[in-house]
Order: sequence, then C-alpha cells, then structure tokens
Amino acid sequence: MIIVMRGDVGPDSDAVQEVVRMASRYPGVSTQVRSIQGVTRSLTEVYLLGSTAAVPKEPFEELATVEKAIRIKAKYRAIGRHEGEAAVVGFVYNGVEFGQDSFHLMPGLCAVDTPANVEAVFRLLKDLGIQTTRAGAYKPRTSPYDFQGHGKDCLPYVFELAGKYDIRVIAMEVTHESHVREIREALDATGKATGVMLQIGTRNAQNFELLKAVGQESDLPVLYKRGMGITLEESLNACEYVASSGNHRIVFCLRGMRTNLGDPHRNFVDFSHVPVVRRLTRLPVCVDPSHSVGGRFLGADGLLDIHHAAAQGVIAGANGVIVDVHPSPRDALCDGPQALLMHEVEHFVRDMELARRTYVERLRLAEKMLGTKPE
Ligand code: PEP
Ligand code: MN
Repeated sequence: MIIVMRGDVGPDSDAVQEVVRMASRYPGVSTQVRSIQGVTRSLTEVYLLGSTAAVPKEPFEELATVEKAIRIKAKYRAIGRHEGEAAVVGFVYNGVEFGQDSFHLMPGLCAVDTPANVEAVFRLLKDLGIQTTRAGAYKPRTSPYDFQGHGKDCLPYVFELAGKYDIRVIAMEVTHESHVREIREALDATGKATGVMLQIGTRNAQNFELLKAVGQESDLPVLYKRGMGITLEESLNACEYVASSGNHRIVFCLRGMRTNLGDPHRNFVDFSHVPVVRRLTRLPVCVDPSHSVGGRFLGADGLLDIHHAAAQGVIAGANGVIVDVHPSPRDALCDGPQALLMHEVEHFVRDMELARRTYVERLRLAEKMLGTKPE
C-alpha cells in the first residue's frame, strides 16, 4: 500500500512519523519513506511493505495530512502508475526538467576521444540551444581488444567544456560503482560545472548489484537502457531495483532488441513500446535510434533510417532522443558508422521538433474526435 501525503508534507515531518507509527501496529508490515522532488510539486509517499492485505485504508485516509492511500494491485511498486492513481511528477536535475511531458534531444559522442571533438560537439549544441548530451567515458565493448574508453582521465576536460558551453546534463555510462565515485570526484573538482545522468547500458540491464548501487545515488539521475535480450517486464523490474533502493530519478530508454529478424538494422527497433512504458510506469521514456539502427542507411526518400526510427518514437510520445554524433566518424574509436555528421545535427533537431509537434497535434485530434484529455 502507498500512503500519499499532502503536497506540503515533507519526509521528516511529524505527519510522516504518525503514518509510520500507525503502520507499525499491523504485524508483518514495514515502511519506507520516499520523497520525490517533482517538476511542479514535491511528493512524499510512505510505502507499507509485507503483509498489507489486511491493513485498511480508512484510518490513514482519515488523517488530515494524507491525500490518499493506494492499494497496490499492479506490479512495479515504485515506478508503476497503479492504474492512474499514482501521480506522475517527473524530476528536475541541474535546472532541466524530465517527466512524461518534457522533451529533450541528447545528441553527443558515443565515446569521448579527444578534447577537440568534445569541444566541437558542445559548441554545436550550444549554437542549437541544446543543454543535454551524451558522452561515453567507460565503454563496455564486445572485444577486450577494442577501445575501452578514456575512463576518469577524460572527465576533467569533458566537465570543464560542458560548463563552458552551458551543457547541463551528460548521459554517461557506468559499468561499475567505482565509476560513480570517479564521476563525483571530477564533478566536485570542476565546481559542478555540469550534471551527469548515470547510464546503465543494455549489457548491465540485469546487473542487480550495479542497479542497487546507482539506486543509492539518489541525487544523480539514471538513464536505464532496456535489456536487449530480456522481456520488457524484466527491464522494468530492473528499474524497480533502482527506485526501491532510493533513486526515483529514472529515464527509461528504448534502444532496440537483439534478433536477426531486425536485419539489416543492428537491432530490431522497439519504439512502439514508448506508449506501453508510459502507460505502465511514471518514467519519462527516451529512444536511442543510433544503437537501434546501427548504421547510416539512407532511405529511398532521402532520409536516414535513424531519422525514421527516431521519428516513430517521438510521434508515439517519447520524451527524448539520444543520438550519436561525431565530427569525423571515420576516426571515431567506437560506433563511428552510426554517428550523425556535424552538419546533419541541425536537420535532425528540426525533424524531431516537427515529430514532437505532430505528437502534440495527435493528442489534440484525439481530444476533438474522442473527447480524451490530452496530457
Ligand atoms: C551506448 O549508448 O553507447 C551503448 C553502449 O548503448 P547500449 O547499452 O544500448 O548498447
Ligand atoms: Mn555506442
């Protein structure tokens, strides 16, 4: 059961203590207090765990400080919507809002290679008014002989340059909890010049110890990439590990599924699951067309398959797109063949903005024709 406190009730308040005390009177029931700093409001919830079947809602709902009690019927206790009863609040990180209503493009380097390339990409993003990007320092590679990323050595210049070009959030994959410590140290050393969203890659989609570790870093958001060969339910349960460990700042990223049936693309594009994840959870959902499509295939209509795949996700309500860019893909140390060229980025941005506007129009049309309420 979830006891949702009224808007002005904080996690350390007497009101929350009262709910915890009341819950402890029921045998076999334990509690966890969660506080989510949302976009327009903050939300404090008390989770009743264990043998809650016999616990009545009424005594809690009678308290003036309680908004409502939700009996959990569905899965995904922490990230779930619970049939529309749980509020979808999103979060703000380093001045940037992430929620099921927001929309961000995150073009950037698959892997950091040189300071000059980092600077060139950040400068381009600033010119385009974009403050969110990706930059890989720790690269999980199929072969141990391939470039593994510059690791902590590149963090000082990446963060300093991000500060210089007003980049506020960098999605950066971590494959071990020591990477989080290194990122924190480098952020501190550069006076928190930027922010980092900890990326969990598809290869670590069920690395439960890593998921619990990033779950304890509750101030750093997590970009969770769907496992390429597991069910959606398994991936959502992995996010539940992060949230139940204390970190509710999660963005879910679709990045294609491993199957030869998706050929000639690198992965089978799964962006029709955007509305599914938005329906089942409170998480913002982004799509990664670069790792789904995996190459610069040009359509018969003159648009890259990367554009088409990304547009499919955005027109279905995705809250963001993460896409690879490189100033000289031929020299890239990782995933060059799928990177957009620098002069293509503006077109990509305008195309995605068009797809987003179309999504908003689609909601209006549904409202007009069917009377459904747009978000
Ligand atoms: C990446 O984003 O660079 C990456 C390795 O993605 P994925 O984990 O989805 O393969
Ligand atoms: Mn990559």
